[in-house]
Amino acid sequence: MFEWFGKINFTPHTRVTEFADHLKDGYLMGSKCRKCGFETYPPRADCPKCLSPDFEFNEISGQGTLLTHTQITAAPTGFQDIGTYRVGLLDLKEGGRLLAWIGESIGEDEVKIGMQLQVVPRIFEDTPDIKVYYTLEKPGTTWNKAPKPGAATP
Ligand SMILES: [Zn+2]
Repeated sequence: MFEWFGKINFTPHTRVTEFADHLKDGYLMGSKCRKCGFETYPPRADCPKCLSPDFEFNEISGQGTLLTHTQITAAPTGFQDIGTYRVGLLDLKEGGRLLAWIGESIGEDEVKIGMQLQVVPRIFEDTPDIKVYYTLEKPGTTWNKAPKPGAATP
């Protein structure tokens, strides 16, 4: 039962469910309050600042500053097969914080608090349910994104 624990990002069916669809397409979508303009990531259906339920999805860059990091050597249940891995807490440029794995583009001796990093969404497998995790990579790292709806095709 615990092999999926911590690996599956459960997104309940709410007004922000579309977040998972955007993520699957490679887009990091936060919410922007239509009343006061407050932005959050991940998206929140009700504004934490003015409590308005009127929001729109807003793509964020995923760029940010590394606040802290650590190396996990005694992995929790479900991660034993992965062994030692690194995680970092990113202070997002657009606001909010995100905990993610430190990706392979960052060498062990390169990790420094205060360094600029890029959040990259990683999809486990193509299923109707979203199974995603994030890695922190060097600025400028790109990943596959689906064409935006209505975008001109070449
Ligand atoms: Zn608001």
